[in-house]
Amino acid sequence: MTQETLKADIKALLKERNAVLLAHNYMRDEVQEVADITGDSLALSIEAAKTDAEVIVFCGVHFMAESASILAPEKTVLLPRLDAGCPMADMVSVEALREMKSQFPGVPVVTYVNSSAAVKAESDICCTSANAVKVVQSMSEKEIIFAPDRNLGSYIARFTDKKFHLWEGYCPTHERLRPEVVKELKQANPDAPFVCHPECNPKVVELADHVCSTTGMYDYCKKSGAKRFIIGTEAGILWRLKRENPDKEFILASPALICPNMKLTSLEDVCEALQHMKPVVKVPEDIRIPAKRALDRMLAIPRD
Ligand code: SF4
Repeated sequence: MTQETLKADIKALLKERNAVLLAHNYMRDEVQEVADITGDSLALSIEAAKTDAEVIVFCGVHFMAESASILAPEKTVLLPRLDAGCPMADMVSVEALREMKSQFPGVPVVTYVNSSAAVKAESDICCTSANAVKVVQSMSEKEIIFAPDRNLGSYIARFTDKKFHLWEGYCPTHERLRPEVVKELKQANPDAPFVCHPECNPKVVELADHVCSTTGMYDYCKKSGAKRFIIGTEAGILWRLKRENPDKEFILASPALICPNMKLTSLEDVCEALQHMKPVVKVPEDIRIPAKRALDRMLAIPRD
């Protein structure tokens, strides 16, 4: 079956099922092309909760489908590839987090949204890469536990005088980008700003002209007067960057910036999920309610 036939079948099934198709910015190009909405994980869940659709097809990884289920419990959330996980989210378990909390009694836990629903439920507040600084600055406590991304945690620690207890997690995809590679690229392309995600290693972040979330990257590259950019995040972001800026050039900082989990979902998987209405991701109420509390606290912080 051709990609065009598959896309037409998906569109017809979406209509039949009253479903909305969400694709994360790191998904395969053809999956982003057929999606109703593309974006970062939390923005997609918030959008999904607002639509009238009864079914959400989440093309992303497991914790993202869980976030959609937390925010829109009345909807059926399909994750076309149940095996699409996030190694960083898997680096923290509820038991291990409880153990760390017991070492620092009374210290609040700030958890990056790239985490399981159960870990969110153990947390005081969530954050995204876009609002992490604001979330931490909004807190009155002088110390925080930050999980699971040590790279994002050490980046935001620069903007506050709070004491951070960092969980030793990281994104293996972003961690693969080495500072030597970035230095060489910057020398070879002095006109191209290096824009990177805070999940990158701190030695890479130090070299950045601009550090931001994926959504921030779309804004920055659109508004910047530069014509060429070195991009330090997962390769899937290039599809929309190129589409929105046809006159600009984007250089992926390393061919290693490919997340295998984000590339699992194919058009065939999306079609099958809609045909059979599975696999379903549903967060049980005893986890959903405390996890939603941590997300709601974050969402209550005013955006710019
Ligand atoms: S890019 Fe990194 S953080 Fe995102 S899903 Fe892949 S491993 Fe997880």
